Amino acid sequence: MQNLRFDAIKNISKDAITYNVKASEKVTTIFGEHVFTLKTARHYLTDDAYKSLVASTKGGKKIDRVMGNNIANGLKAWAEEKGVTHFTHWFQPLTGLSAEKHDSFFTLKGDGTPIQEFEGGALIQQEPDASSFPNGGLRATFEARGYTAWDPSSPAFIMEIGNGKTLCIPTIFVSYTGESLDTKTPLLKAIVALDKAAVDVCQYFDKNITKVNASLGWEQEYFVVDAGLANARPDLTLTGRTVFGHAPAKGQQLEDHYFGAIPERVYAFMRDFENESYKLGIPLRTRHNEVAPAQFECAPIYEEINLAVDHNTLLMDVMTRVAKRHNLLVLLHEKPFAGINGSGKHNNWSMSTDTGVNLLAPGKTPKTNLMFLTFFVNTIKAVHDYAELIRASIASAGNDHRLGANEAPPAIISIFIGKYLTDVLNQVEQRVSGNFDETDEAMLKLDIHKSIPELMLDNTDRNRTSPFAFTGNKFEFRAVGSSANCATPMTVLNSVMAETLKNFKVEVDSLIEKGEKKEVAIMQIIQKYIVESKKVLFEGDGYSDEWEKEALKRGLPNVKTTPLSLDAFSSDKAKKLFENNHIYNHLELEARHEIMLESYIKKVQIEARVMGDLASTSIIPSAIKYQNVLIENISGLKNIGMPSSAIASQQAIVAKISEHINTMAENVEAMIEARKKANEITDTRSKAISYCDDVKGKHFHIIRYHADKLELIIDDSFWPLPKYRELLFLR
Ligand code: ADP
Ligand code: MG
Repeated sequence: MQNLRFDAIKNISKDAITYNVKASEKVTTIFGEHVFTLKTARHYLTDDAYKSLVASTKGGKKIDRVMGNNIANGLKAWAEEKGVTHFTHWFQPLTGLSAEKHDSFFTLKGDGTPIQEFEGGALIQQEPDASSFPNGGLRATFEARGYTAWDPSSPAFIMEIGNGKTLCIPTIFVSYTGESLDTKTPLLKAIVALDKAAVDVCQYFDKNITKVNASLGWEQEYFVVDAGLANARPDLTLTGRTVFGHAPAKGQQLEDHYFGAIPERVYAFMRDFENESYKLGIPLRTRHNEVAPAQFECAPIYEEINLAVDHNTLLMDVMTRVAKRHNLLVLLHEKPFAGINGSGKHNNWSMSTDTGVNLLAPGKTPKTNLMFLTFFVNTIKAVHDYAELIRASIASAGNDHRLGANEAPPAIISIFIGKYLTDVLNQVEQRVSGNFDETDEAMLKLDIHKSIPELMLDNTDRNRTSPFAFTGNKFEFRAVGSSANCATPMTVLNSVMAETLKNFKVEVDSLIEKGEKKEVAIMQIIQKYIVESKKVLFEGDGYSDEWEKEALKRGLPNVKTTPLSLDAFSSDKAKKLFENNHIYNHLELEARHEIMLESYIKKVQIEARVMGDLASTSIIPSAIKYQNVLIENISGLKNIGMPSSAIASQQAIVAKISEHINTMAENVEAMIEARKKANEITDTRSKAISYCDDVKGKHFHIIRYHADKLELIIDDSFWPLPKYRELLFLR
């Protein structure tokens, strides 16, 4: 271990930077090169097959066997030309990662002749064993078998690894009896639900609107560390975060990393993974240094949510793979390093119509203004009414370290809308109800769009502290963790929005039936919603202690840990919401709740084990070695007759080391005991709570405290783990 650390440090300066991307390579020539886009499909498919593919892509139309075969043939022809040998259904089970099982195009005919084959059946459906993926008990109730089914709305692509190429077919993953076992299935359902509810409301304003698409633009934060150094940190390799490590002399206090010049080696890596991403059709647009040393961010142009989610999942995979070529390790964990910023993944979310209107962009005419106000206020209402569920949608063991930790939004869900829109809502609220007909002229003529520049000015650091912020023409959900699959928060957001819009329509319709004018009815319900949900609006500093107190007064939920926040998934309110909108049935919801709790337990369990191992087999032994050196020194000094004043400091250090060792060892023992007790608990929720409170809560901090103190005392050459200063600054 000790050698590993110093070897790694030595090797860094020897590593030459790998430049894999040719300077002449233009994005426009490679973009989508590995994607079976509709344009490519046009070339490889018969007219009928092409039409059938387009219909299923755009209108969700089913593809029959014959057409399936035709499309598969075209896909195979295209893929073979590109040197592809295998294909796989590519899906996103509840592990949070993507999954694939490759099959060769190659097969044998009855007479033993080798041929290449890809049939419609293999394109449309496959049967991986569902029992090896998290299924939350759905396996016990039903069958172990599950199947993956093609999602034509996300195009097939070619994954290139080394010189191996695989055709990937994006699919959903469901149990044999149809329960969803992945993140994509519910997302697709939520997208449909929101489309329908939003179109219904849009009809008040424009009869031509027949489709509403929700969009997502994610911003992926990540850390990059030298792979050699990381290899000497078992905590990083096993958990994605450092469970020990004292803050370095220099951290992020100089604020010199944010938007600074990108370090050369990381830059070469970025270019490389961006290039791979372009080939896969991921429209990356921005890259920059983030606040913490060794922290970076990239973001694409926003896309339809399903595609955006697939692209983010793919990107995380591509980044991880490409990093290897550069002897780097990408850390997607929410909090790889204590004491400096963690990583999030802002989810920029908006809705737009097939008539080309962004429903969250303030309009230029009274009519579009009212439409904007409708969707804007409905979003606020949705987030207010389902704050717990929204909080639960971003809950994970990793995100628990980040939320509320000084640099990330707290676990309280609030919305920032800026000064101008706050004024607008106040004006609407203060109208005497029912008084709109006299003054609706004035109301509808609000020059909301003119406020945009002002709104942007208001886009200060202060609003950066909000977990859910309106940023001009979209809402930015910032509490999402960097390693998360965006499908879960997006499923929840779309579902609560669909439900809220449905109720809105019912309320407005009932006023219209009573004889109210349409615009007036709409204004009245908007007003009602503002009154009902304004307590979720907050413009101040979300990181401050005052906000926690204020939020408590307002009665806003503030659930800090994952096991408790996940309760929102099993509440009657959630069941009703998801069932009403056909997203999850009760069984699926319970299974999901169970899976998320299990995942939490496993992650904390692994961290606890790594902590115990490292403390007992690396840190304490190093401390003892150094202590022995001191003891030898003390007895040597005594032997040559030095006075006790000459050995006082050494003795003090020896005593300190003993104190730290003992407290650490005691706590490691106690943590192991706590784990044993937790493991005996059969109820998953109680077990997760016990892991959270008894294993992690009672012991992690104290074990770490003493390990980090030892790091400051022990001879540097004895310290086995690469230090923060090395991980964060050497590359
Ligand atoms: P910032 O860091 O200031 O939030 P970025 O440019 O890093 O800005 O990220 C903004 C993200 O929001 C990008 O992914 C962008 O494509 C996306 N975005 C912009 N407009 C919309 C919109 N109307 N709907 C959804 N996402 C959007
Ligand atoms: Mg942002």
